[in-house]
Amino acid sequence: MEDKQTLIDMFKFHGHKCWASAAGLRAGLAALRALGVERSGAKSLHAVLETGYHHAAECFGDGVQYATGCTFGKSNISKDPKGKLAVRVIDKKNNKAVRISFKPVLREKIRNSAFMKKRASAVPPTEIPEEEQWEVVYLIWDAYEEDVLSIGKVYDCELAPTEELMRMVICDGCGEMVAESYMRVVNGKPVCIDCAGYDV
Ligand SMILES: [Zn+2]
Ligand SMILES: [Zn+2]
Repeated sequence: MEDKQTLIDMFKFHGHKCWASAAGLRAGLAALRALGVERSGAKSLHAVLETGYHHAAECFGDGVQYATGCTFGKSNISKDPKGKLAVRVIDKKNNKAVRISFKPVLREKIRNSAFMKKRASAVPPTEIPEEEQWEVVYLIWDAYEEDVLSIGKVYDCELAPTEELMRMVICDGCGEMVAESYMRVVNGKPVCIDCAGYDV
């Protein structure tokens, strides 16, 4: 088991303590271990999150981002929205991938926790007593891996390389800095999408 500090640091990133982000953290760490790789400092890994939008337990995705270093800021994570607590992590260097999903063995225990009962009656997670927050987190964090995760076989997976355009340009209209590929030309002047007044 990883030390508790990793969990605390992830919660700082995530914003609150919850079981789903803890599950995502475990899933991400398990993916690194299965692939035999380090957290993605740059873009050596790409993750495909199977969580969807606006549903329970979406917090899973933040645990995955924190564990794997696959982040929306670096664009080395994407969503294949299926409403599932699952992720595929691809090692771009070795062209290998693994899929990890949350195994709902502890579902009833989670549902019956004081934390989830309050969440079900719309109490925001940050207003639930600290010890009740930790109680549900520890359900996931201290559990045996086989009671939390399904870890698939490592399989071959090749991603087309992506090109990163480095040039940034100053918009003639608003003066903001814009990636060149997003610039438009209006009356012979380079402008951003907002200043161009059209978005094609
Ligand atoms: Zn959360
Ligand atoms: Zn502009």
